[in-house]
Amino acid sequence: MTKDDLKSHVDDIINALSDDKKEEISRKELEIELEKFMEYGVPIEQAKQTIIKKFEGAVVFTGSINKSVERTLISDLKPNQSSVKILGHIIAINPKDITVKGENRKIFYGILGDETGTVPFTSWSELEVEKGDVIEINNAYTREWQGAVQLTLGDRVLVEKTDKDRLPKSAFEPRQVKVNQLRSGMGRVDVIVRVLNVSSRDTDINGEIKKVFSGIIGDETGQAQFTSWDDFKIKDGDVIRIKGGYVKSWKGIPQLTFDSNATLTKLEKDKISKGDINTNKMPLHQLLEKHGALDVEVQGNIIDIRPGSGFVMRCPECNRVLMDEKCTIHDKVTGKPDLRLKLLIDDGTGAVGCILNKELTEKILNLTINDIKKMKKEKLEEELNNKLFTKKICLKGNALGDDFGTSIIANYAEFIDINVQKEAEKLSSEMEGLL
Ligand SMILES: [Zn+2]
Repeated sequence: MTKDDLKSHVDDIINALSDDKKEEISRKELEIELEKFMEYGVPIEQAKQTIIKKFEGAVVFTGSINKSVERTLISDLKPNQSSVKILGHIIAINPKDITVKGENRKIFYGILGDETGTVPFTSWSELEVEKGDVIEINNAYTREWQGAVQLTLGDRVLVEKTDKDRLPKSAFEPRQVKVNQLRSGMGRVDVIVRVLNVSSRDTDINGEIKKVFSGIIGDETGQAQFTSWDDFKIKDGDVIRIKGGYVKSWKGIPQLTFDSNATLTKLEKDKISKGDINTNKMPLHQLLEKHGALDVEVQGNIIDIRPGSGFVMRCPECNRVLMDEKCTIHDKVTGKPDLRLKLLIDDGTGAVGCILNKELTEKILNLTINDIKKMKKEKLEEELNNKLFTKKICLKGNALGDDFGTSIIANYAEFIDINVQKEAEKLSSEMEGLL
């Protein structure tokens, strides 16, 4: 933002302040305040409203809310819409303390649902609503977050509790989905899954120790993580139906979350046998859209061998790669030798980065770590190019997504020869028929 822009925004704030506040607060103070919000990436109008609200202690609307705007259905929401009107019910709501440039602030986030779907939301101010309430929201806006639409309730939003009958009954019904359809922000899902493993841990929630259960679930379409905030006596190998869970995600990996509001039924164990559980086989564009997944299988041609591939020394304390025998945290240490490959693979629909550990690197190069350690840099580059570049490879592992993209941490790697490749192509055309 230019100095002139900043000046004109500060003018707007001053104009909106009452006369005695104008006397009290210096221009400099407002400038510093506004710059803080800008650094944090808060939209300018929202930042201005928040500052006015802070100094006046009340909401000052500079615009008027047009309540006659037509309602948008959740399934029709697109990124970057403004003045959105939504009718929905609160599926989940949680407060979250955040620090905006040294100042504590309480925001609320949750999931909202209507008869067409669900959407995650964030509110920048306190909401006097609770789970199950049906609300009409005016003047919200949308953003894109990790490939999905998110609803934002800024300082100009108007939230009103309304009659439950305004939403059709279907809006409250859980939706039946398969594991590979679970996406962050989905609420009220109904799944039938096999529990592959479960463990419990104690967590401190506002000073109270609570047991939380988590693990891996799967069906014939793939696997996902789960967290249960209630003790449903789930055991390894159980086949269960969970109605009323919702989905959060960690690094793009969907996590089915449920609590005492969900109903859990145990089914016959042969409904989904161990052999029915499949890895998520998917084309790369699908993985990129999902931003991550647990236990995926992908294939593609190696189109780049990234710098940092080959022999490295790691810090024995924190596992970071050493530069000139030094760790950025622990300084000079006696490193432990390691090997890795950083590859970019492309299947024609998209490209994803992959990391192969020492064992996989040794296996696919058919060389030991000592062979590679002894090689000169040029020789190694030649070797990597000859053995890897443009070759078709099949990888399995977990795909993690963050702001920089999605990468696969491989736990299986194998070159695909021509015959197997034909087979794989047949399989992927079959899969496309199913999508
Ligand atoms: Zn270290």
